[in-house]
Amino acid sequence: MGRKYNYLTKSKVASGLQCHKKLWFDVHEPLKREKAIFYGGNRFGNQVIKHYSKKELNILDLTGDFIKPVEKTTQAINSNKIDIIFEAAFEFSNTQVRTDVLIKQKDGWTLLEAKSSTKLKPEHIDDISIQSYVVRQSLNKFGQKLKKVKLIHINTKFILKKIGDYEGLINDGNDLTERLNENEIPNNIEELLPLTNKDSICPKISVGSHCNKPYSCDYFERCDSTSNQKQITPFTILPYIGKSKDLTDYMAAKKTSDLQKVPTNFFRDRKDYAPGYHQIIQTAHKKNQPWINPNLKNVLKDFEFPMYFMDFETIGQVVPIIKGTTPYYPLPFQWSVHKWPTKDKPVDSGKSFLQFDDQDIERKFIETLIKAVGDKGTIFAHNAKGTEIKILEKLKEKDNCKDLASQINNIIKRVEDSAIIAKHNFYSPLMNGDWGIKSIVKAIPGCTINYEEEGNISGGTDAQLAWFINTDPNETKDRKEKQKKLLLEYCSKDTLAIYYLIKYLMEL
Ligand code: SF4
Repeated sequence: MGRKYNYLTKSKVASGLQCHKKLWFDVHEPLKREKAIFYGGNRFGNQVIKHYSKKELNILDLTGDFIKPVEKTTQAINSNKIDIIFEAAFEFSNTQVRTDVLIKQKDGWTLLEAKSSTKLKPEHIDDISIQSYVVRQSLNKFGQKLKKVKLIHINTKFILKKIGDYEGLINDGNDLTERLNENEIPNNIEELLPLTNKDSICPKISVGSHCNKPYSCDYFERCDSTSNQKQITPFTILPYIGKSKDLTDYMAAKKTSDLQKVPTNFFRDRKDYAPGYHQIIQTAHKKNQPWINPNLKNVLKDFEFPMYFMDFETIGQVVPIIKGTTPYYPLPFQWSVHKWPTKDKPVDSGKSFLQFDDQDIERKFIETLIKAVGDKGTIFAHNAKGTEIKILEKLKEKDNCKDLASQINNIIKRVEDSAIIAKHNFYSPLMNGDWGIKSIVKAIPGCTINYEEEGNISGGTDAQLAWFINTDPNETKDRKEKQKKLLLEYCSKDTLAIYYLIKYLMEL
């Protein structure tokens, strides 16, 4: 399909309300990226359709129909024979919206908008106001009324008890009719529409706190013009303050984006980081030299061989397919472990576990892991507190894993968080303000691990996408196999990277 100009959609208006430049990119240079979040949303959308299709109503389902959907919707509404429309399409003021569920009532229509989130969020009000404005104006043209607007979201308390039974997954109790704000929408459309013109010029807008609110912007790397000026390291790399409003406003007022121009009174300490870590970053970039904690040797002396390097991947299924789980329960589906037996021996070639929809996945996950890490030696995991420890603590409580609690406790006791070790002891300007393992490997001399190869899985969200692909009955076997292979490579790359980090620190 060719690019459409002079034309807005709900998501484009939402982009424009966040940042004009984001809208411009959406129209003129969009990023085509498959995302796990879309798979999750679609699965929830399918359940929404099933839920409202139960009653014996006359239904028009326009899901996935892009051939004259506005005409088909208009016809259905004017026919007076259709009771419910899925993915109805409306157009008003060059703005098209698709509505999830539209139900005919005695005195008008009810619009229901589905979000695969767990509750009503402030940004939903703006988002749904765009829908309701366009639908209301269109219905008015046909002499009909929009009477009610509701949000559908996920019931977090839902637990899958029987495969395929999703009774109770949907919460449609949020009536937004009185909370919407349609007054500004005509002005917003008028203001944003010129940006969709074929010849419009990309607005000059710098990155700042708006890039993450209300949504994290996909164009950040492309747009961060300061990072393209090689002679300047941008202040935005400073963890926790680089994108804060106070600092971005200050730097904008000073008309600079140079890290070296950030006054120290903005710097903050933070648990898990070395004291004065913002200053450490600024100085390392100024001198173009790494920083190493003089006390490093003392920190490392308590770690024991054999050493293990461990990483988990988890998934929030959205629509659970594993019995006993809730929509956003972090289901562990993959682990990777590398073992370094002694200082004078090489690291092994690694072990792994990978399952997608096995109903006994957690039991198999932990049983195999217990074998892989043995019962002694330090286990390193990067950001272990955020994932690995949490998962192990949860598994201990699960009915089908409780009998393994003492072995799980033994693993937990041996885990050391390599991210915290690095944050307290090492920083290189090559890490650009980030202690993620993918940034750290760039700073380790001789480390050949590269996450940036084309087509690779390069992060946790890609791994989640691979889980969705592998549990989708409509995906091809070839695509599933390819994703499986990439997942195994990716997770093993992470554990090997942790090994390189620890080895490097030990040799310093
Ligand atoms: S990264 Fe920020 S400035 Fe750039 S388009 Fe996105 S929101 Fe706008």
